[in-house]
Amino acid sequence: MSVIIIGSGPAGISASLYAVRGNIETSVISNGIGSLERAEKIENYYGFAAPVDGHGLADAGKAQAGRLGVRFISGEAVNLSWDGIFSVTLSDNTPLTADSVIIATGMPRRTPKVEGFKRFDGAGISRCAVCDGFFHRGKNVAVWGSGEYAAHEAEELSHIAASVTLLTDGAEPQVAFPDGIKIITKKITALEGGERLENVRFDDGDMLGLSGLFVAIGAAGSAELAAKIGAATDGGYISVNEDMETGIPGLYAAGDCISVGERRALPQIAAAVYSGAVAGMASVKYCRSLK
Ligand SMILES: Cc1cc2nc3c(=O)[nH]c(=O)nc-3n(C[C@H](O)[C@H](O)[C@H](O)COP(=O)(O)OP(=O)(O)OC[C@H]3O[C@@H](n4cnc5c(N)ncnc54)[C@H](O)[C@@H]3O)c2cc1C
Repeated sequence: MSVIIIGSGPAGISASLYAVRGNIETSVISNGIGSLERAEKIENYYGFAAPVDGHGLADAGKAQAGRLGVRFISGEAVNLSWDGIFSVTLSDNTPLTADSVIIATGMPRRTPKVEGFKRFDGAGISRCAVCDGFFHRGKNVAVWGSGEYAAHEAEELSHIAASVTLLTDGAEPQVAFPDGIKIITKKITALEGGERLENVRFDDGDMLGLSGLFVAIGAAGSAELAAKIGAATDGGYISVNEDMETGIPGLYAAGDCISVGERRALPQIAAAVYSGAVAGMASVKYCRSLK
C-alpha cells in the first residue's frame, strides 16, 4: 500500500509522518520549499523558544520525515490521473503510481489580472490540456506560461490541436519547448471574444485568434492538479470535508490549498500541520481498507 504526497511544506511533511508511521509506503514529491522560503522569522509556531527561520523549519521537517523512512522525490508534478490506481507524472515524464494521493501544494496561484480573464474562464480558458484539449481538436490553441508545466501542456496539445502557440506574457521561456510550437513573448493586455474567447491582444496592439487558451503559469498548483482528476475546487482552493477528503476515493488535500465548505484554509503553519495530519491519517485508513 502506498501514498504519494505532492508538496513538502508543513502540510505535506505532516501528512507524511502519519502515513509512514501507519506503515504505508510514503513518497513526497517536491519542487521546492514553498511559502516557508520567504518566512524569515517564525515565532507563533509551537515548540521553539527562539524564533525559527523558514528554511530551518523546512529542513528539520524533512530530516524528521527522512529518518522515519519517507522517500523524497525531487520534481514537479504536472499530471494526476486515476485508472484503478493513482498516477502522478513528473515534468521529466517519470510516471509514479500509488494507492492514495495527498495534494499539499500550498497557496493557489493567483488568477492573472488581465482584462477578459474572468469573463472567459471556462469559456475558452482552461487549466487542463488532458481534460479539455479534445474540445479544440484541429483548432488553434495557445498555452500561457513559460516553464516545465507549460511545456507539458503544450506537448499534450500538439497531438490534438492544429497549432499550439506559447504565450509567455513578457517572460523568457525557461525550458525547451517541443518543435513546431510558436513562441510569442509579448505582454498580454486583454482577452477578447463574444460568448467564448476568440482573441488574445498584446501590448503592441497585435492580436492572436484562437479557440482555446490553456493557463499553465508556474508549476501546476492545486486548481490545475484537481482539474486533471475531476476534484472540485472553489476559486483555486481544493474543496474538502473535515476529513480532508476531496470526494474522489483515496484523494486528499491539505494545507494552504484547501477550503472546507465555505471556509478557506487559515494560511498558517499550525493549520497546515493539522490538516496534513488529518489527511495522512485518512489516507492510511483508506489504504488499509484496500487490503
Ligand atoms: C513571507 C511569509 C511569512 C510567513 N510567516 C508565517 C509565520 O510567521 N507563521 C505561520 O504560521 N505561517 C507563516 N506563513 C505561512 C506559512 O508559510 C504557510 O501557511 C505554510 O507554509 C503552508 O504550508 P503548505 O504545506 O500548505 O504549503 P507550502 O509551505 O507553500 O508548501 C507547498 C509545497 O508544494 C510544492 N509544490 C507546489 N506545486 C508543486 C508541483 N506541481 N509539484 C511538486 N511540488 C509542488 C512546493 O514546492 C512546496 O514544497 C508565512 C508565509 C509567507 C509567504
